[in-house]
Amino acid sequence: MGLIEEAAHIFDEKIEDLKKNVQDELAAFDAQYSGAMYDSILTTKLGKVIGWAQKNALWPATFGLACCAIEMMAMANSRWDAARFGAEVFRASPRQADLMIVSGRVSQKMAPVLKLIYDQMPEPKWVMAMGACSSCGGIFNNYAIVQGVDRVVPVDVYVPGCPPGPEALIYGIIKLQEKIMNEAGTPRSRKKVA
Ligand code: SF4
Repeated sequence: MGLIEEAAHIFDEKIEDLKKNVQDELAAFDAQYSGAMYDSILTTKLGKVIGWAQKNALWPATFGLACCAIEMMAMANSRWDAARFGAEVFRASPRQADLMIVSGRVSQKMAPVLKLIYDQMPEPKWVMAMGACSSCGGIFNNYAIVQGVDRVVPVDVYVPGCPPGPEALIYGIIKLQEKIMNEAGTPRSRKKVA
C-alpha cells in the first residue's frame, strides 16, 4: 500500500470513529432528556391553546346588583360591542357561565346568594369586581354593605370607578384575558377569598 493510500485509510477510520462518537452522544442525550422535553412542550402548548380558547369565549353570568349593572349591560350593545372580545354572551344560568361580573354594591343579605351563584359556576371561572362598591364598599361604609366582594368570592380583576363606563369594563376584560393567557399551561392553584 502506498503512502497516500495508507493516509486515506487512516483518515477514513478516524472519520468513522468520530461519527460513531457523535451518534452515541446524541443517543445518550435523547434517552436522558427528550421524553421529558416532549412531554413539557406538548402539555405547555396544549395549555396555551386551551387558555387562548377560554380567554376568547368568556361567558358572563347575567347578574347585576345596582347602578353599575346599567353600564355592564351597555358594554354588550352595538356601540361598545363586547363581541369583539368574545364576552357578549350573557348566560341566564350560572351553569353555563365562567365569568361573574359583580356590578354594584353587595348587601350582607345578598352575599350568600352571590356565593351560591359563584359555587354553581363550573371551573375554570373568574370574577371581576366592577366599581367602587363591589371593590371596597364604595361610599357605603356601613353595616349593611359588604366592604369588598373579595370577602365572599376570589376576585381576579378590579375595575375602579363610580360607575366605571363600558370602556373601563372592556379594559378590565382585556386585563383578565391577559391573566388567563399568563396562567395557561401552569398548574392551577386554588383561589382564596381575602
Ligand atoms: S360604584 Fe357607584 S355606580 Fe357602581 S353601584 Fe356603587 S354607587 Fe352605583
